[in-house]
Amino acid sequence: LITQQSQDELYRILEENKNLDTQGSADKKKTVVVSVCPQSRASLAAKYKIGIVEAAQRINGFFKRLGVDLVFDTSFSREFSLIESGKEFIRRYKARDTQKSAIPMLASACPGWICYAEKTHGSYILPYISTTKSPQQIMGSLVKDYLAKRHGKTPDQIYHVTVMPCYDKKLEASRQDFYNDVYRTRDVDCVISTGEVDKMLDVEGISLVDVEPCKEPCDSLFSPQSNELYGHPGGGSGGYLEHVYKYAAQELFGTHIGHLSYKTLRNQDFKEVTLEVDGKEELKFALAYGFRNIQNIVQKIKRGKCQYHFVEIMACPSGCLNGGGQLRPDDGESSKELLQRVDELYNSLETRTPFQSNDIHQLYEDWLGGSDTEKAQHMLHTQYHEVEKMTSALNLKW
Ligand code: SF4
Repeated sequence: LITQQSQDELYRILEENKNLDTQGSADKKKTVVVSVCPQSRASLAAKYKIGIVEAAQRINGFFKRLGVDLVFDTSFSREFSLIESGKEFIRRYKARDTQKSAIPMLASACPGWICYAEKTHGSYILPYISTTKSPQQIMGSLVKDYLAKRHGKTPDQIYHVTVMPCYDKKLEASRQDFYNDVYRTRDVDCVISTGEVDKMLDVEGISLVDVEPCKEPCDSLFSPQSNELYGHPGGGSGGYLEHVYKYAAQELFGTHIGHLSYKTLRNQDFKEVTLEVDGKEELKFALAYGFRNIQNIVQKIKRGKCQYHFVEIMACPSGCLNGGGQLRPDDGESSKELLQRVDELYNSLETRTPFQSNDIHQLYEDWLGGSDTEKAQHMLHTQYHEVEKMTSALNLKW
């Protein structure tokens, strides 16, 4: 796993491509695609003290100078993940009286949490976890299915790398569920952490601020306009709670929610938000980050005492901006100060709701044949498995 999921593997593929070029066998080259997540971009921007768009242009430039063909932003695939989470929640909420494990729905984008749940709480907790794939894995489906077909390639002719804020994303990419048996390839071939990108800059002997920037922050996967950077409201871990809450309030109760008023519970990483309709609590959502808060939620579910309808669970305290693969502070700056700067940079982009994007609606039609098709289920959802023992970075951490 360590060799397969590292920058060394990316260098090896790029070297093979160069050799094929010199041998006159360019047609045998793999198309190399890198998908960068917004949390990693914010961490690099903070270290090099540049704005988020400039960081994206220079990261794009860095990968292109190494020989990468296309650089994407995973905010695009996150739109699918948010939309599918909202729809899944509505289905579960409506089934809550007849289906015991429908509610609370537990967010699924954090592989640190998923590994822990599969290993420690197995069959009891797994049915509560949302089946929606994470942005990384939806990007995997988009690249290896949609993009491959558009470029007239098979999935194994594309080498897909993601840049992520934690090492647990490597485990996620390695799951059997995301392996294509026919073409013997993964949806995400290699995951490199933010810190590993920084090491690559060291190896190349260049600082990010000296890299020739690309004109565009990223390439467009769909329409020419889809290479603009944007964010989603709701915090540095993807905004799952905020999106699902607003969507459910509108769909189920016709209530438009502008701003969410959280109540902080035991600590900053444990908050809740409630929607009352005619004096009755209709929606009660929580955000639980870090091991202690997660344990608290899991124990409540096991005892049948969890009053939440949805919980955004993330393994890292403070969420993904503070992931284990992010860059550490330089001398003279505390972790807290750095995290604050990363957070500000992350939130400096204009935000939009997933439904604002015409590209997503078009892709549901062009790629998936509609929003509730078998293909949409296959490309955008997954499943979980009870496991005896798992070799996880999390074992060390937890
Ligand atoms: Fe990775 Fe931490 Fe985010 Fe989970 S919370 S996806 S472990 S960075």
